[in-house]
Amino acid sequence: MSSATESKLFRPDVPRLDGIGDLLAYALALEVEATERYAELAELMATHNNRDVAESFRKMARVEQLHVDEIRKRIEQSRLTDLPTAHFRWVGLTSGPESTDPADLHYLMTPRQALELALINEKRAHQYYDTIATSTTDPEIKALAAEFAEEEKEHVALVEAWMEKYPEADEDWDRDDDPPVLQD
Ligand code: ZN
Repeated sequence: MSSATESKLFRPDVPRLDGIGDLLAYALALEVEATERYAELAELMATHNNRDVAESFRKMARVEQLHVDEIRKRIEQSRLTDLPTAHFRWVGLTSGPESTDPADLHYLMTPRQALELALINEKRAHQYYDTIATSTTDPEIKALAAEFAEEEKEHVALVEAWMEKYPEADEDWDRDDDPPVLQD
């Protein structure tokens, strides 16, 4: 992959923000996407009987859900209306033959791949907020975007720490040591 393609994949487009409401609308879209993808990753890892990684992703889904709630509350409290329609989508893995569709996470087979996908997207979220924080002239947007960027940096560190436990795809990763557990 060329570095141009890579940076395009990696760097999300940063929207034009005319006020704090715009930032909150875009942040909400990003956090909702992260919550949903993590919940899906958790389910996927649970299906593959990897309870450890499933639990880590469940934890991330909860963390991102807290952000969603917090942002919704801010929007309500500030009585912001006319917010832009915002979308944010995770990207797929940057290597591998099956990396085309991030919406279909079922191509992910190993905890390592799932964690790599999470890492790419946490870095991308950090980049997104960081770009906003460093490029805006609005002090309110700058402060909040910097705060969000800091939180995403913590998520990057969390995922990196988990990855140390799964250095690479292990042939035996799905060996069934424990019988499947029925989820409620
Ligand atoms: Zn995050």
